[in-house]
Amino acid sequence: TIPNSKEPLILAIDVGTTSTRTMLFSKSSSIINKTQILYNKTPQDSNSVNLELCGKTDINNNIINCLDMLLKDLDHEKYKIVSIGIANMRESLITWDPHTLKPLSKCILWNDTRNKEIITQMRKSMSHEDLMYFRNKTGFNNISTYFSAGKLKWLLENDLKHLANSNRAINVGTVDSWILSNFTEERSFKTDVSNACRTGIFNGVSLSNDMKLMNIWNIPHTKFILNFPKIVSSSEFYGNFHIPTSHTDVIQRDRIMHWLRDVPIQGCLGDQSASLVGHLKFDPYETKMTYGTGCFILTNTGKDSNYDQNKENKLLNTVAYHFPYLNDGEITYALEGTIGQCGFLVQWLMNNIGLVDDLDALTRIFKSYNENKNVVNDDIIFVPALTGLYSPYWDDNSRGTIFGIDAKTEKRDLIIACIKGLCLQVGVILKEMFAAKKDKVLISIDGGLSQNHEFLKMQANFLDGNKYELERNVNHEATSFGAAIAAAFGTKNNSDRVMWRDIDDLKEHVNKHKETILKSKSLGDHKYSCNDDIDYLNDQYFKWDLA
Ligand code: ADP
Repeated sequence: TIPNSKEPLILAIDVGTTSTRTMLFSKSSSIINKTQILYNKTPQDSNSVNLELCGKTDINNNIINCLDMLLKDLDHEKYKIVSIGIANMRESLITWDPHTLKPLSKCILWNDTRNKEIITQMRKSMSHEDLMYFRNKTGFNNISTYFSAGKLKWLLENDLKHLANSNRAINVGTVDSWILSNFTEERSFKTDVSNACRTGIFNGVSLSNDMKLMNIWNIPHTKFILNFPKIVSSSEFYGNFHIPTSHTDVIQRDRIMHWLRDVPIQGCLGDQSASLVGHLKFDPYETKMTYGTGCFILTNTGKDSNYDQNKENKLLNTVAYHFPYLNDGEITYALEGTIGQCGFLVQWLMNNIGLVDDLDALTRIFKSYNENKNVVNDDIIFVPALTGLYSPYWDDNSRGTIFGIDAKTEKRDLIIACIKGLCLQVGVILKEMFAAKKDKVLISIDGGLSQNHEFLKMQANFLDGNKYELERNVNHEATSFGAAIAAAFGTKNNSDRVMWRDIDDLKEHVNKHKETILKSKSLGDHKYSCNDDIDYLNDQYFKWDLA
C-alpha cells in the first residue's frame, strides 16, 4: 500500500534501435520525467548492425545511466514508483553464458543482413511443404534475414562455432529476455509472447517453440546446448528490479535502488506491440503506425489469429499482446506491415551520402515540395531498399535503385524521391491491410519522423483521403506508455492495481486529462488530410510498381 500523500508512478524502460529511454508516467499518462541516451554506433560493413554488450555503451549501462539521470532529482516526498514495464526492439538476438550472464556474442540487431547468402540458399532449397508449414505456423511469408532464428544460425556457424560439441550451455534470447535476466533478482530467463512470436521458431498455433521450425531453419541444435527462455505473458510478475552484479559503481547502484528496491517488473512487450497498447488500440481494426528506424503498421485483429490460412502472407501475423488478468485473459493478435528503412533513410541521407546537412534543411525541402510540387522533378523513382524490402515484397536481396535522373536533377529531387519511396510503401501496405474494409481508417502515428509536420503532409498526400486519416496525439511516446500499461495490469486482483483498475478506467483517465496535456505542450493534436486526387495517386503507385 502507498501512503496517500505519495503519487504512484510507473517506470518504463524502452531499449530501441537508436536509443534507450526511461520514462515515468502518472495516472493521467503525463510524463513526469524522461531521459534518453542515443547509441554511438561505430561504422560497420554494409551488412552488419551490432550493439556492444560489454563496455561503456552497452545495453545494461545505457539503462543504468538513463535511470540514474531520471531519478536523481525526483522528489521522494511526492512520488513513489510502483512497477516497471519494458519495451524493446524485437528480433534482435543475444547469446550469453547462463552462469555468469556474460555475453557470448554482440547483440545482432533486427535489420542486420549478414546472413543474406545463407537465407537465399535456404529459400531456394526449401520444399513447398516446409514453406507452407512455415507460413501457417509462424505467420510470416518466408524465412528472411529479419527474424532472429536466421541470426542464431549464422552465429552458430561463425562466431560461436568453437562451442560446437563442447559442454557449454548457451542462453539464446531477444533483448527482453536479456533485460529480464540481468535486471531481476531472480535472473528470470523469460520472454513475453509478443517477442517470442518474432523469432521464426515460435509456432503461433501451439503457442510454443517448434522443433520442426527449428529444422526448417536448419539450426544445428544437436551440436550445441541451447537454452531458450520460458515463454510467458506480457503482463505478470517477472521479478523484482535489481542492478546487474557486474555493475561496479556502488554509489550509482545505491542511488537507483533507493527508488527501485522491491519494485516489481510487471510489463514486457516488443516495441511495436507496446506502441499499439500505448495508443489504446485494444479493439479490432484499431490501427497505429510508428515511423522509427523502420516503419511498423499494426492493426488489432482481436482473437482472430490469422495463422493456419494456407495463403501467401504479404503482411505478418503476429501476437499483439497477452494480458492474462484483463477481460477474458486471452491473447490478442495483430496484422503487421513492416518497412525496414524509415528514419534509417533520414540518417542515411544526412550521414552516409550527405545529400542534406541536418533535419532543418531536410524539413525545408519537404516544405517547399508540399507547397509547390513543381519545385522538384517528380518523375524520379527511388526504391530505397537499403537492406532489402520487407512487407509486402519480402525480398532480402533487393537493393536501392534510382530511375529517371537527367541533366537537371538536383540533390533535393533525389531526397524527395527517396522519401516518396517510403510514403508509397506505406500506401501499398495500407491497401493490402484494409482491402476488405469499406469504412474510413483512423491511424494513430508516432515515432521519430512523426514529429515532422512537413513529412506528415507529404505522407498524407500519398494516401487516399477518402479512406485514411492520420492522427498524432500529443503523447507520441506511445511505446513507453504501452510498457507502463502492461506493468499496471500485471497483478491478478484489480484491488492491487494502484494506477488503473481496467481498460475502461485507463481510457477514462487518459481522456479526462487529455485537455491538460494538450495545453501543456506547444504542438497540439493534428489531423492530416489526405490527397483526394486519385488519378495523381494511382499514377504514383504505377511508377512504384514499375520500379
Ligand atoms: P527507434 O525507436 O527505432 O530508435 P525513433 O522513433 O526514436 O526510432 O526515431 C528515430 C528516427 O527518427 C531516426 O532515424 C531519426 O533520424 C528520425 N527523426 C527523428 N526526428 C526527426 C524529425 N524531426 N524529422 C525527420 N526524422 C526524424
